[in-house]
Amino acid sequence: MCGICVPYCPTFALSRNEADGPRGRISLALGLAEGTLAANPDVVAHLDGCLTCRACESVCPSQVQYGALIDEVRGALAQNVFSATTSLNESTQPKAAQHRWTLWRNRIFSQRQTFGRLWAVLTFFERMHLGGFIRRFGGRFGQALPPQTPSRLPRRFRPNQVANLQPANAKKVGLFIGCTGESLNSDAVRASIRVLNALGYAVEIPKVQVCCGAMHQHGGDLERAAALRAENRTVFGGADLTALLVIGTACAGELLREANSVPVIEITDFLAEIPDAEWSPLPPNPARVAIHLPCSQTRMLKQPASTERLLQKIPGLKIVPLATNNRCCGAAGLHLLMYPEQADTLRTPKLIELNELKPDFVVSANIGCATHIAAGLGAPVVHPVELVAMGL
Ligand code: SF4
Ligand code: SF4
Repeated sequence: MCGICVPYCPTFALSRNEADGPRGRISLALGLAEGTLAANPDVVAHLDGCLTCRACESVCPSQVQYGALIDEVRGALAQNVFSATTSLNESTQPKAAQHRWTLWRNRIFSQRQTFGRLWAVLTFFERMHLGGFIRRFGGRFGQALPPQTPSRLPRRFRPNQVANLQPANAKKVGLFIGCTGESLNSDAVRASIRVLNALGYAVEIPKVQVCCGAMHQHGGDLERAAALRAENRTVFGGADLTALLVIGTACAGELLREANSVPVIEITDFLAEIPDAEWSPLPPNPARVAIHLPCSQTRMLKQPASTERLLQKIPGLKIVPLATNNRCCGAAGLHLLMYPEQADTLRTPKLIELNELKPDFVVSANIGCATHIAAGLGAPVVHPVELVAMGL
């Protein structure tokens, strides 16, 4: 109740409504749990509008576990557990239909095949020189598309591929590529394989890996999220790996929720930790690079320095600090599609800063943020490992 977290909340900063801030949302959750508050559409909207950026949690002096709390309350809303305990007036039924849609939405967007098909359609339109038409008239989906022209059809990484097997003493790592690894994010996957091979690692990418479950976890489908994590543990657990490397800070945070038999490490952090002596010298690159820090990297993984430490391995690179890295960019999983106006407003300060600084590259270790910023900037945002791979 101290309110220290409130000024750090991006959604509170937009509406100045207590119910759109962490303290207000905790009060709403308390009211629902005690049965003094109905799960009506207004209440649901205030809880649903949270970005799960956890800026509030990182400053709370009482160490309130806000991230776990909002996941739990959304899970309870999705299962209608509050409907029988409401005691206040009018239409108290929760938006059951909306929650059913949320569950289906998460399941649709957490399929590699879905992204692959969408990417194939976009590639076709681009080749017909109709990409601009999709971006202009494709509604929110069109606006959310990054500016890069897909030059290749979705990349299908072969089942149980071991990339460029190294000599017998090579260490073998697994690569978790996420739902977008064969479409939106395939350049980062290719770059990761190249860099890891150059460092003497064989890379295994099991085709049967599934979504990390982040969208389900934050969308109230906790059971499905846990099932997906368990499936990935089984897939990678029996593969005789030194480590499971994850492309995407949000996916890494999600897979780290539970203990795994193989160490799970976000790839930027893994590469940054490899001593300089094990790297072949990278050629100098005098480019200016701005690093966008995803909330999942700073507040879930608590590794805000990984990207900079990795990029420091490239001689001559100039890192341009971003003052807007203390605030969520607005992507927040599917938030950019479900709350487009809010997502765009939250992105604006980042775009203003980048347009003033004019760096040669913008990097982000999370594909959701990268896509959202690239769509607003009209220029690519790449994964840091892609910059490293350029020198190989
Ligand atoms: S997680 Fe982010 S958006 Fe949600 S209440 Fe906390 S600071 Fe606000
Ligand atoms: S979550 Fe923490 S910082 Fe925010 S009001 Fe409660 S005790 Fe204070």
